[in-house]
Amino acid sequence: ELLSNKIAAGEVVERPASVVKELVENAIDADSTRIEVELEEGGLHLIRVLDNGSGIEPDDCELAFSRHATSKIKQEQDLYQIRTMGFRGEALPSIASVSEVHMTSSTGDGAGVSLIIKSGLITEKKPAKSRRGTDFIVRNLFFNTPARLKHMKTIQTEMAHTADIMNRFALAYPSVSFRLKHNGREILHTTGNGNLLQVIAAVYGMQTAKQMIPVSLKSLDYEVTGYVAKPEVNRASRSYMSLFMNGRYIRSYGVNKALQAAYHTLLPIGRFPVCVLSITMDPVLIDVNVHPSKQEARLSKEAELAALIETGIKKALQSSSL
Ligand code: ADP
Ligand code: MG
Repeated sequence: ELLSNKIAAGEVVERPASVVKELVENAIDADSTRIEVELEEGGLHLIRVLDNGSGIEPDDCELAFSRHATSKIKQEQDLYQIRTMGFRGEALPSIASVSEVHMTSSTGDGAGVSLIIKSGLITEKKPAKSRRGTDFIVRNLFFNTPARLKHMKTIQTEMAHTADIMNRFALAYPSVSFRLKHNGREILHTTGNGNLLQVIAAVYGMQTAKQMIPVSLKSLDYEVTGYVAKPEVNRASRSYMSLFMNGRYIRSYGVNKALQAAYHTLLPIGRFPVCVLSITMDPVLIDVNVHPSKQEARLSKEAELAALIETGIKKALQSSSL
């Protein structure tokens, strides 16, 4: 099992940002309202994710680190209607197999538990204080996989990947407070008061936030809410188009195309809008079990969603320019 964990880590844990992504997803699944992330040296030295969520029962802690142990999928049927960020039960064993993990967790009633795991083996387990939530520290990522370590880019590049991921979480969950620190310096802080426009200002700046148009669309199967930028606010990269499907950041070629079609003739070639759209649907309509990174999805009714977005956003842009 230790070897297969390390193999899975090759897919799930590509770089520090992938560790942050998996740990923050777990914090969100645990209904946290405050999530703090701290990195040292781009995360290669240390990654800490602290949440105030449900915590893990002391008796379940060891299980959480064994492969395919997930508390989120109980039967095969659940796999076709995923309501949580995680479902593969791979993240914790994968991360623990390529680093040194120190986890403290408590459900808030009774004592918590503190675990130390090295190369996937539990080396220490003892009772801990009972503050509700989970404190997850990952040290010396890839210390035992030198080939992977060699592939790490500069600290700045690794940090940029994490900042990108944290920005998306903040945009997807305006009701959760996120904080990101690197080497003691604060990179991002959102209040968690539910105001998406304030999160857009925190992430992209006040100027951009002032140029956003609210969007609220509905069809039989889909609901789309969020903000799209006026055509004047455009960027040279598609990465400012954030799409969230049932709370998950998804790269969707089809939806991107519909978005760009809505801006057709309004933007110069090679320029893309800033937008933040949350798309919700019955989970049976979306299959996210396409890739271990869970950033791709198959939609069973993509054409309906594309049409809703193209016409709805075209209309929103027209009425805002009147
Ligand atoms: P998955 O998220 O796919 O279930 P993980 O390996 O990421 O698998 O996590 C394993 C299990 O550990 C989760 O199903 C959950 O029960 C528990 N867990 C992990 N992180 C947290 C957290 N921050 N708060 C509460 N429970 C957690
Ligand atoms: Mg998970």
